[in-house]
Amino acid sequence: MNKDYFLDPSLFKAEEIIKEDHTYVLDTGFKEIDLVLVSGNGCRVKDINGKEYIDFNSSIANVSSGYNNKYIISALKKQLDLLIHSHVCTINIPKVKVAKLMVNIYPKKANMKKFLTSGGGSEANEAMFKLARRFTRDKNATAFISWWEAYHGATYGALSATCQKTAKPAFYEPLTPNFMHVPMPNCYNCAFGKKYPRCKMQCAKFLKDFIEVHGPEKFVGMLFEPIISAAGGIVPPKEYFEIVYEICEKKKIVLMFDEVVTGFGRTGKLFASEHYNIYPKMASFGKSFSSGYATISGVLVNEEISKMGGFGDNWHGFTCTGNVFSNAAAYANIKYIIDNNLTKNAEEMGNYMKEKLSKLMNMYPGIIGTIRGKGLAGSIVFKNKILQKDINLIVKKAFEKGLILKPNNRMRDKFIWLYPELIIDKDEMDFSLDIIFKSFEEVFK
Ligand code: PMP
Repeated sequence: MNKDYFLDPSLFKAEEIIKEDHTYVLDTGFKEIDLVLVSGNGCRVKDINGKEYIDFNSSIANVSSGYNNKYIISALKKQLDLLIHSHVCTINIPKVKVAKLMVNIYPKKANMKKFLTSGGGSEANEAMFKLARRFTRDKNATAFISWWEAYHGATYGALSATCQKTAKPAFYEPLTPNFMHVPMPNCYNCAFGKKYPRCKMQCAKFLKDFIEVHGPEKFVGMLFEPIISAAGGIVPPKEYFEIVYEICEKKKIVLMFDEVVTGFGRTGKLFASEHYNIYPKMASFGKSFSSGYATISGVLVNEEISKMGGFGDNWHGFTCTGNVFSNAAAYANIKYIIDNNLTKNAEEMGNYMKEKLSKLMNMYPGIIGTIRGKGLAGSIVFKNKILQKDINLIVKKAFEKGLILKPNNRMRDKFIWLYPELIIDKDEMDFSLDIIFKSFEEVFK
């Protein structure tokens, strides 16, 4: 028998695949265009008709090490020939080495001691909720806090921590009870109408009062992104996290950071928590953890959590948690990010991008509200009066010129995400920014 099961893209036509997609694939509401991608290389992807684009969104902040990365692929090919899966009841080398690497590369001050692998970012956050409940072991302490407009995933617990109305329509109710939300520290568009630093951290003060009003003993944990990717790269003031840390310590609330997007160099530090030198008891990772080469996520836990004991049999696990191939992908990818200092590239390219886009902002003062972000976690934020159809038109014009951008219209701020691959070089950045400038000119001049 000589059967070839490979789905060779050259055997298919765009119309056929799009038609079958519409017929058989259940739409999740994320798809913006009928773009059939068949290959990628570095920052670029190619569609089924051979047209090339720079992916300025890294497939939703995911493919940080770039497409067709020879080093990662070479490690994965070798792993494929050996073993692809070993379930949670056994030990495999890549899983152990990933855990060791994670414990060792996270800043020492955090005192992270153990690592738990899981399948995706939502699952990693679910694991943190369960671990926090186990840690407090108090049946009366059931509440978690996250931000208005936060995104933490699509499973029930992670969705309950999420606070974006399009993600959780009323018919999903009841969600996991006692997930509460407070305004995020958005200094550009403050929920309290204040200006930083004259605000004297009104948002953090509100959080403090919120906990007191509800009763601190009711709370298990708080989950925040250290740099808010869901909102296009908001960088909260350091004081915010200082206050949060203090509240958590005083009131015995477990601080958890969601580093699913910000982890592994994207913000110009290996982990975004390093910008504040403030560390949680647990942190979740996904996306750039394997740069999309396999499905994998995980949670780092500090010494206190790792030592709490009493886990018991089968306390938590997924069939594919120990997947050898996924762990091998994460290992090769993290090593690649560190060895090639992609963190520094993200910082330098991010500064360059911001500097150039500040010029764009000066050219369109009535249209652009701010250029937001740190490293390659950023966005162009539009003034509220700008119509969504015009923002979508910029994205469309850029797309026609070979640049994939992603707009967001689900939040109070309207913006276009700027999350390219961390391997992007100056020529590719110039090429991309040139397209953005031209698209603005075509829509707004
Ligand atoms: N946390 C954050 C901050 C995210 O942006 C996402 C996904 N966009 C998740 C968690 C959930 O990750 P996943 O989609 O892999 O479940």
